[in-house]
Amino acid sequence: MLILTSPEFEGRPSGGATPHRSAYYITRQLQKYNLDVQFQQFEFEFGFFDSATGHNVVATQYCKRIQCKPPIVITAHYDHLGKRGSRYFPGANDNASGVVVMIDIAKQLHNEDINRDIIYVATDAEEKGLHGAKAFVKKLAGREVYMNINLDMLDLQKKNKLYALASRSLQPLKSDITTTFNATPIKFRLYFSAKIMARRLNAPQIDWLRASDHYPFHRANIPFIYFGAGLDKNHHSVKDTFDEINFEKLTQVSNAITKFVRSQTSDNASATN
Ligand SMILES: [Zn+2]
Repeated sequence: MLILTSPEFEGRPSGGATPHRSAYYITRQLQKYNLDVQFQQFEFEFGFFDSATGHNVVATQYCKRIQCKPPIVITAHYDHLGKRGSRYFPGANDNASGVVVMIDIAKQLHNEDINRDIIYVATDAEEKGLHGAKAFVKKLAGREVYMNINLDMLDLQKKNKLYALASRSLQPLKSDITTTFNATPIKFRLYFSAKIMARRLNAPQIDWLRASDHYPFHRANIPFIYFGAGLDKNHHSVKDTFDEINFEKLTQVSNAITKFVRSQTSDNASATN
């Protein structure tokens, strides 16, 4: 996280002709866990006339069985706002937090016998319009996906609250999702309606369904769960720094989400517990 938010990474801007150095850094981290890591290059348009190139980092842990279930796709955008003048936007909570948790999940699960592929996607150009996630979904070309888990802004701050918005079709998994947080001090809230979530968060202006990379999956009828800690006073400011992150809590979040992913990729699904 210190590296992702460092001045050398210049606020992780998107739109370069070649992958940003943060994408290479994430690639090296994921390669440590024997994943098949590839860049997915794509073109995207912004404004009225401009187009640019983006690069997702796509890392797969393969199911090694004869029969495998449809894959689970875990997303976290690594791009941020870049810099303005001499100041850069570190984007620690938005979304180095999601990227480091995604890498930690890969670390914790990489030696396990999984019953479906786990595809980790560090998406690019989220801030410019969810372009990386759109490109990834497009490339799936209708391939069946079990679910998308999207991680965006996971620093719990003082409120100690973590929120999730999930597709209504995942309501049968409600207890699977919530029980993983029971043994933690985190106040976890799960919603199946973006409107109710906005009301409870006192943020009627935010459309949580369209706010991050889970939306293109939703549009493609792929069930999703979006995890995030809600509003952040430092959002999209130069104050979204490494020092503001509570790492003890981020570790709790990571362990709980890992537990949930494990429950969905192993045969002893906790649905029966
Ligand atoms: Zn974000």
